[in-house]
Amino acid sequence: MLFDKLNLISPIREALLAEGYTAPTDIQEQTIPLLLEGKDLVGCAQTGTGKTAAFAIPILQMLSGEQKDSKELRSIKALILTPTRELAVQIGESFTVYGQYLGLKNSVIFGGVSQKPQTDALEEGVDILIATPGRLLDLMNQKYINLHHIKYFVLDEADRMLDMGLVVDVKRIISHLPKKRQTMLFSATMPLEVSKLIDSILTDPVKVAV
Ligand code: AMP
Repeated sequence: MLFDKLNLISPIREALLAEGYTAPTDIQEQTIPLLLEGKDLVGCAQTGTGKTAAFAIPILQMLSGEQKDSKELRSIKALILTPTRELAVQIGESFTVYGQYLGLKNSVIFGGVSQKPQTDALEEGVDILIATPGRLLDLMNQKYINLHHIKYFVLDEADRMLDMGLVVDVKRIISHLPKKRQTMLFSATMPLEVSKLIDSILTDPVKVAV
């Protein structure tokens, strides 16, 4: 199957071609149409399956169809929470690559480094924020981040978040998100704790496993 069948807008198709992607992976083929319909989704998939593009492509496409904020008033409309700095950086790079022709801005924040470059970027305005939970909460507490305009929320590697003891932070962040939003949760495994989280933060999700 080629990307043609997924009804992607041409700036995204071109970006994928430029990256040398010719066909969607399994998870992308199953997930992209459901997300473009606005469904909440649980994806059971490991890193390496192409799961980043499976959520990044539809988010970019949906955001590109919305009225653009003026540069001064950009608000964060998509939040991706991921457990580690390495994953956050990779996800940010993916959004940059797939969205290279769209004019949307993404920013990556994580702990263990100075917060100044991150807060500078936030002050310039960001459409898509990729974050690890601890630094996100820090910057929320310092009022650098407002999550009131979030429409798309991704919880990446949910099982690892729980293993790393990040569940309290994650739940605190989710309590600040608008109730009306599209939520996507990805996890390599589905232990009971993840199922409970799914029941509490997603609405009538479709499940996709690869
Ligand atoms: P991920 O599972 O999101 O970490 O992606 C694993 C790797 O697969 C990344 O290096 C991506 O750049 C690459 N990738 C994702 N989707 C595709 C695709 N449709 N065709 C070729 N490579 C891809």
